[in-house]
Amino acid sequence: MSSKPQKSYATTDAINAMTEGVNLCFDKAERFFGNVFQRSACNFKQRGRAAGTAHLQKNEIRFNYFMYQQNPFEFISTVVPHEVAHIVVFQIYGSTVKPHGKEWRAVMMKVYGIKPDRTHTFDTPPPKETYLYHCDCQQHDFTKQRHARVLRGVEYVCKNCKSPLKFILTPQ
Ligand SMILES: [Zn+2]
Ligand SMILES: [Zn+2]
Repeated sequence: MSSKPQKSYATTDAINAMTEGVNLCFDKAERFFGNVFQRSACNFKQRGRAAGTAHLQKNEIRFNYFMYQQNPFEFISTVVPHEVAHIVVFQIYGSTVKPHGKEWRAVMMKVYGIKPDRTHTFDTPPPKETYLYHCDCQQHDFTKQRHARVLRGVEYVCKNCKSPLKFILTPQ
């Protein structure tokens, strides 16, 4: 979708915008329920295919900066309420209800006025290149960096069977 270079570290502006979005969602929920909710710590630590994750017990929300950058406005108006709704539902009902059950859907529709979509529409980062290695007992996935170390002469042995790891396949 976007051909702009993707920065891997969130700018202060992005962190502020995301934090403001989260607080706004909590404000709306508090007005709706007449409750005070414990505000979550939030950050851009989410990686991979998920746009965000709500860590209920820790009261922490992780957002995916790779996706945020594609469309900050869209991200703040869909992903942020999605994750805050998980926290709100957890603080009201505990962990007895389904993650995307009727309670969560009701918060999405009644508090935020948005469609309770479970999935996002952002591009996902390309899968990590994996180099396949084998020992006597199992397959090992090596990163590009680790594979490069092998090419420079570093040897790895399997912790389990103690046999040396051998290179079998490059990423497709
Ligand atoms: Zn969810
Ligand atoms: Zn092994």
